[in-house]
Amino acid sequence: MTGLVYKSTGSWYTVKTELGKVYECRIKGKFRIKGIKSTNPIAVGDVVDFELETHNNEETGVIYKIHDRTNFIVRKSVNLSKQTHIIAANLDQVFLMITINNPPTLTSFIDRFLVTAEAYSIKTILLFNKIDAYDEETILEVKYLAHVYRKIGYECIGVSAKTGKNVDKVKALMKGKVSMFSGHSGVGKSTLVNAIQPDLNLKTKEISTLHMQGQHTTTFAEMFDLSFDAKIVDTPGIKGFGVVDMDKEEVGDYFPEIFALKQDCKFNNCLHLKEPKCAVKAALDDDEISYSRYRSYLQIIEGEDEHYRTDNWDN
Ligand code: GDP
Ligand code: ZN
Repeated sequence: MTGLVYKSTGSWYTVKTELGKVYECRIKGKFRIKGIKSTNPIAVGDVVDFELETHNNEETGVIYKIHDRTNFIVRKSVNLSKQTHIIAANLDQVFLMITINNPPTLTSFIDRFLVTAEAYSIKTILLFNKIDAYDEETILEVKYLAHVYRKIGYECIGVSAKTGKNVDKVKALMKGKVSMFSGHSGVGKSTLVNAIQPDLNLKTKEISTLHMQGQHTTTFAEMFDLSFDAKIVDTPGIKGFGVVDMDKEEVGDYFPEIFALKQDCKFNNCLHLKEPKCAVKAALDDDEISYSRYRSYLQIIEGEDEHYRTDNWDN
């Protein structure tokens, strides 16, 4: 039988088949997935094959195969073991919720988030929330940011979780897909999910950050079915995608507008800093590339490591 992992609590996995039957499953033997050393072999969102066995008069499953993942997000534990924990697999999209104020979301945060999402091959949609509460000047800022990010290929929607404005658009994008909501604490994730489906009640309220340190295994992601053929992965207490170890040369590949110009630079190992005949610098001078995006690029390759660690994305 084949099913989708909805929940994992360490040794047992809740797996739902296409027909909607739910089985508690365990793993037989040792599982090794090529290329990743993680504390958990299977994560929420994995598609698995399992066979049934009877256990204390109950039918349970034994997982013997994990299907290839289209993507996955990880979290590295902050303790000495530095072990990787896979939070979720096979996400179709992440909605990054942004507010201009209360709380402010900086472009450096947005860009780091997008770079990581690109590196993990996860599609991101930007939601500018709380548009009901903004004055004219702030609305102009939303419009400007939406213009910057649309130009490089990201879908942007202004929403109000409070009034329900454009929530239907978000729902339409979620249909038939597995989605996750990210963004700073206080941007309105719980309010929006509640506007999308009032009876869901996710556990999105974070456990205090201090408490979480070194105890990542106590928080588990979980997948939920919504009423309109959509799925949400809830990741209590997790705000980022985990850390990507990237070479300097690689960073530009995750900025779509820089990647698009890469082959026009004189040097094929151009880092777009002070090299002669750099197409990226030329585009920057022509206002074809946004300065705030370029500044984020510089921050990342100049290795502000502590800031770049996406599991420190609390603030
Ligand atoms: P979360 O931490 O991202 O889950 O944020 P919450 O959903 O808990 O929202 C934080 C605060 O922002 C709450 O006081 C909400 O009522 C408020 N809020 C959320 N969405 C909106 C919105 O669209 N407009 C306004 N004005 N307030 C909002
Ligand atoms: Zn260049």
